[in-house]
Amino acid sequence: MSDDTLVRRTPWPESSSRAVGTPLQPSVVYAAESPDRLDDLYEGRAPGYSYARERHPNADVLATKIDGMEGCTGGITVGSGMAAVTAGLLAHLKAGDHLLGGNQLYGRSLRMMSTELPRMGIETSLADPTDVAAIEAALRPNTRMVLIEVVSNPTLRVADLDGIAQLCKSRGILLAVDNTFTTPRAVKPFDHGADIVIHSVTKLLAGHSDATLGWVGARDAALNEAMLGFAQTLGLTASPFDCWLAERGLYSFELRYDRAEENARALADHLHGLPGMERVIYPGRPDHPDHNRVASLLGERTGNMVTFEIAGGREAANKLVRAASNIAFAPTLGDIGTTLSHPATSSHRALTPEGRAALGLSEGSFRVSVGVEPADLLCREFEAAVRAAAA
Ligand SMILES: *Cc1c(COP(=O)(O)O)cnc(C)c1O
Repeated sequence: MSDDTLVRRTPWPESSSRAVGTPLQPSVVYAAESPDRLDDLYEGRAPGYSYARERHPNADVLATKIDGMEGCTGGITVGSGMAAVTAGLLAHLKAGDHLLGGNQLYGRSLRMMSTELPRMGIETSLADPTDVAAIEAALRPNTRMVLIEVVSNPTLRVADLDGIAQLCKSRGILLAVDNTFTTPRAVKPFDHGADIVIHSVTKLLAGHSDATLGWVGARDAALNEAMLGFAQTLGLTASPFDCWLAERGLYSFELRYDRAEENARALADHLHGLPGMERVIYPGRPDHPDHNRVASLLGERTGNMVTFEIAGGREAANKLVRAASNIAFAPTLGDIGTTLSHPATSSHRALTPEGRAALGLSEGSFRVSVGVEPADLLCREFEAAVRAAAA
């Protein structure tokens, strides 16, 4: 034992067979055979890894899978959806540029635009992405990028993706699309002319509320290179374990998505007409305000999100949540199980009641992220909760 010590790594067992499951590789550093080989690696002449903040296998495996779903190569996995938004914007914008955002973006994206970017000398403003004329009117000579989501949270309005993409193309403006809500199962923004696609992998893609991750990619290699360099330098690294969990989640993504969407359609129809129900918003219903665009842009892929509004204000809202005790009351979306959120006290609490009213939201508004439970169970539980709130 004199030339051995516990400190040295024990060699990994050799095997003539190959693991079927993806290995989890938490190593931060990778030992190279020689300075020559390290040189090859850094210069891209040989494959491999050096340091996990720069790249690691579990992040690459996950990114490759999402690249395939969105239809690009060279997208990157980062530590959260907001890290993906950060890389998607800041790798390309500089002081003096103007960024135009959709007026119902994810709350933290709005906050980045209202507080962080202006501090760095980047001008920002918002416009309604369901109205391409409003977007065009809000463009400035220095507009470098437009950032939109395809379906807004929680009002489920559908952006004029094709119109905005055409407009951006004709003006040489980059179009970034946060595809978290819709997922590539419903829409592939690159096929509609987007330059950059962003995901909170935390939500539907990973699907089990146990990994916080993001992905951002482009079809243009120079855009991807800028985002990779930015993420490596700013340290937006994803945890290998989270990547491993998310990749595992992806194997069942299409099954989960299809089932949740079918359930959402059934739930939206079931909620409609219940006592005290003021409004049900679901992109698949003929009474949806963007019905024509839903048909042309999303087709049958109308998603797993349902928003509804009950009468009776906060008091009725409290009763509904208490009565729906099997449904997690939690401000997230895309979990395998159904979750319920109340925008007035969570995602939209920073707005005044008037600001919420302008979006069509009240104390009675709820957003449901529908999961894969049996549809009849969900319909029964929601009906009981809605009736309890109305009683
Ligand atoms: C959740 C979410 C984000 C942020 O993702 P995190 O993983 O929570 O950082 C960004 N955009 C949309 C549309 C989201 O729903």
